[in-house]
Amino acid sequence: MSLSRFTSQPDVLIVGAGPAGLASAIAAANQGIQVEVIDARKPPIDKACGEGLLPASLESLAALGFDLRDLLHIESYPLRGIRFLNDKNIAEAAFPLNSGRGIRRTVLHELLVDQAESLGVRFHWENAVRAIELSRQGPLIRTNRQTLTTRYLIGADGHQSRVSAAAGLNAATTHSRRIGLSQHYAIAPWTNFVEIYWSDHGQAYVTPTSSNEVCVAYVANQRSSTPAEALSQFPILQHRLANTPLSGAARGSITLGRTLHTVATENIALIGDASGSVDAITGEGLALCFRQAAALATALRNDDLTLYQQTHRHIQRLPSLMSRALLLLDRSPRLRNQLFRAFERRPLLFQQLLQIHIRQSPLRVFGTDGLLAAGLQMLTS
Ligand SMILES: Cc1cc2nc3c(=O)[nH]c(=O)nc-3n(C[C@H](O)[C@H](O)[C@H](O)COP(=O)(O)OP(=O)(O)OC[C@H]3O[C@@H](n4cnc5c(N)ncnc54)[C@H](O)[C@@H]3O)c2cc1C
Repeated sequence: MSLSRFTSQPDVLIVGAGPAGLASAIAAANQGIQVEVIDARKPPIDKACGEGLLPASLESLAALGFDLRDLLHIESYPLRGIRFLNDKNIAEAAFPLNSGRGIRRTVLHELLVDQAESLGVRFHWENAVRAIELSRQGPLIRTNRQTLTTRYLIGADGHQSRVSAAAGLNAATTHSRRIGLSQHYAIAPWTNFVEIYWSDHGQAYVTPTSSNEVCVAYVANQRSSTPAEALSQFPILQHRLANTPLSGAARGSITLGRTLHTVATENIALIGDASGSVDAITGEGLALCFRQAAALATALRNDDLTLYQQTHRHIQRLPSLMSRALLLLDRSPRLRNQLFRAFERRPLLFQQLLQIHIRQSPLRVFGTDGLLAAGLQMLTS
């Protein structure tokens, strides 16, 4: 086969220019690797999201070469902690060291694309992958516009990954499947905490994304056809947002808790949602993408994707456990109410939980004490 029939033959070809694909392109380009990225859409790419970057997500962004001071100059909002609310109780904890950031998905996308371009990454927008063939010369990728080949193929193409199917990597255990809906509201943030409202119908979490806008992500087992219908399940928030104009369109998406059995072959690797995911309520999806990107770049530099397989499992472990613990609270109103009362009485318990979640304390800090430990033990036993 003549190689000249291919329009492009990069060292690394990434399918998907969402946060995972872009972070992966940046991390690989930082290692001097020649990278090209394909996406079916064109920028700025938007998606249903809670739009919160926890402090650990920002640290992972910094590790990719971002100067976090630049975030102060773009449309975004500082986040000081997390607040849980139900109809009777409120529990809150501040991030102990650094703050997080609320940032609109499209703004984050633009930031990542700019960084990738400045490192020489080449993009093929509006290229939908139609077929992938695995030959001895390497993966061959056919889009609606061209045919490309590459040494390493990275699937960053989300939950319905074609790359994962083509590589035979889609065997997975699905722990949870819920429906997310996000909507922006034109209102000045009333707090710099991310507020998570809990009810028997799921959660609504509010992230300030600028000085005049908040993003609300509704996540539930049942689909709501409109943001108003979803909001009606959370009376306190509904009261807070009464008469607030909507800003932009609502976006819906599935959120999965899913662990893939294998995320890499000799020359194909998966990243981001394509490689498994945690429920949206954890606010950890983007952090996972950024951490995986750094691990994948190291494996690519060492020409050994088995390194990535091992690190990926390690990266996924705690967020996956937290995701299952939070979903246990979603399913068990009694446990939830007991725990929220305990959080209100013992704010330190909530603070410790948050610190574990954002990786500033080890999981063992709880020992065998407290309701949460009991819940976590039920999950891990
Ligand atoms: C309601 C909701 C709220 C959330 N809130 C948060 C939060 O607050 N904080 C957080 O960190 N995470 C959150 N998440 C999770 C986070 O959004 C995801 O983990 C993240 O989007 C994963 O990024 P990705 O790049 O893997 O996938 P995606 O963002 O899905 O990107 C995949 C890309 O691949 C492209 N693609 C797919 N198929 C093809 C093809 N055949 N050819 C070419 N291109 C293709 C798509 O166009 C897309 O651009 C939330 C998720 C949901 C659903």
